[in-house]
Amino acid sequence: MGYSAFKVFWEGLTGNKGWKPVWREPDPKPQYDIVIVGAGGHGLATAYYLAKEFGITNVAVLEKGWLGSGNIGRNTTIIRSNYLLPGNQPFYEKSLKLWENLEQDFNYNAMVSQRSILNLIHSDPQRDAFARRANAMRLSGADSELLGPEEIRALCPFLDFDNARFPIQGALRQKRGGTVRHDAVAWGYARGADMRGVDIIQNCEVTGFRMENGACVGVETARGPIRAGKTAVCVAGSSSRVMALAGMRLPIESHVLQAFVTEGLKPTLPGVITFGAGHFYVSQSDKGGLVFGGDIDGYNTYAQRGNLPVVEDVCEGGMAIMPMIGRARLLRMWGGVMDMSMDGSPFIDKTHIDGLYFNGGWCYGGFKATPASGYCYAHLLATGRPHEVAGAFRLDRFRRGAPIDEKGVGAHPNLH
Ligand SMILES: Cc1cc2nc3c(=O)[nH]c(=O)nc-3n(C[C@H](O)[C@H](O)[C@H](O)COP(=O)(O)OP(=O)(O)OC[C@H]3O[C@@H](n4cnc5c(N)ncnc54)[C@H](O)[C@@H]3O)c2cc1C
Repeated sequence: MGYSAFKVFWEGLTGNKGWKPVWREPDPKPQYDIVIVGAGGHGLATAYYLAKEFGITNVAVLEKGWLGSGNIGRNTTIIRSNYLLPGNQPFYEKSLKLWENLEQDFNYNAMVSQRSILNLIHSDPQRDAFARRANAMRLSGADSELLGPEEIRALCPFLDFDNARFPIQGALRQKRGGTVRHDAVAWGYARGADMRGVDIIQNCEVTGFRMENGACVGVETARGPIRAGKTAVCVAGSSSRVMALAGMRLPIESHVLQAFVTEGLKPTLPGVITFGAGHFYVSQSDKGGLVFGGDIDGYNTYAQRGNLPVVEDVCEGGMAIMPMIGRARLLRMWGGVMDMSMDGSPFIDKTHIDGLYFNGGWCYGGFKATPASGYCYAHLLATGRPHEVAGAFRLDRFRRGAPIDEKGVGAHPNLH
């Protein structure tokens, strides 16, 4: 299915009857060069870049449900590269650069909107920490600036500047940060991979790994066995369960994270805003709803729904910085299962089992990582070497004493 201005115009005149499905529904073949497990954003992006950048098209992406049923269709759509540590910053900056050109690259409207992100500052030590972060960002080519209260007041007059507990003293702004329509990202990558020959197979759960002489040679699925030269797992919140099928225990716990959307309001928010003294972040969708979220629920679960204490906590965070949110009616809320790693940073690595690769541990920051994660995973699968910006995301980093602890809070998923 190709798109052009002429096609849109013609279909508009003829009743929109000529649109075709965006990807095929093929039956699985007995064998592929590479089998990717999980058709979330990262799995689909990996297939796309394998085909487009490395010319590897004998690839299947196996999805247990429907395409986009996982976190790629559940997140709050924020993209940014405001990271501090050398193991993270260049990776997320590569991702942001890929976002900037993504729609032209796969010729699909993903509504990439660089409407900026403001991280509010509420104390002097926090300003010092954000100044350091802003400098680290600039060193790897990202944009960053520190704003004072008056500049923020001009942008966001609705914020509570005089809150006695959390006065707004400034903000770190990344103008190139923003939002992207999350499910369109899955559809765009799926279309781009499919048109290059990748088989995307939905309703095909992977139930086991085929092992021969200690190496992984394929997968068992709900639709029969499939042999593969390389098997690339990419299942986000299901990482621990799927890798347990290969006998591996991961430094990952699964937790639920909730998202919330209000009724549509007039354009109010200039971009993404995050609270600096608690966990609350908010943006406004193009339909007008305020899209917001906060912390994980904090207990281990594989259920895609959350509980009320976190709803209260998130709403308290919202009220602390923008009391007007208390007047808006909540329309929808939902949960997604997060693959929380022990240091808050991800993995893109070959496992100790020949032929088996792993991508996961994205915590609640994996949406913004989608393009670079797919690109770097494809690079690893195609060349056998980690991409230079993903070299720190190794599975053995805890054993080596080299965690990538962005927040500096230690090895506990609840703190990241
Ligand atoms: C409420 C919420 C808000 C978020 N907000 C943001 C944000 O603003 N910015 C940001 O950067 N990140 C955010 N995230 C995190 C981000 O969504 C995830 O880190 C990212 O989407 C995970 O990668 P994925 O898209 O590949 O995952 P998924 O879409 O979950 O893909 C994994 C796929 O694997 C499939 N699968 C699982 N087991 C099997 C199996 N056995 N066989 C076959 N298939 C299987 C699943 O069905 C699923 O489709 C948020 C997440 C949530 C839940």
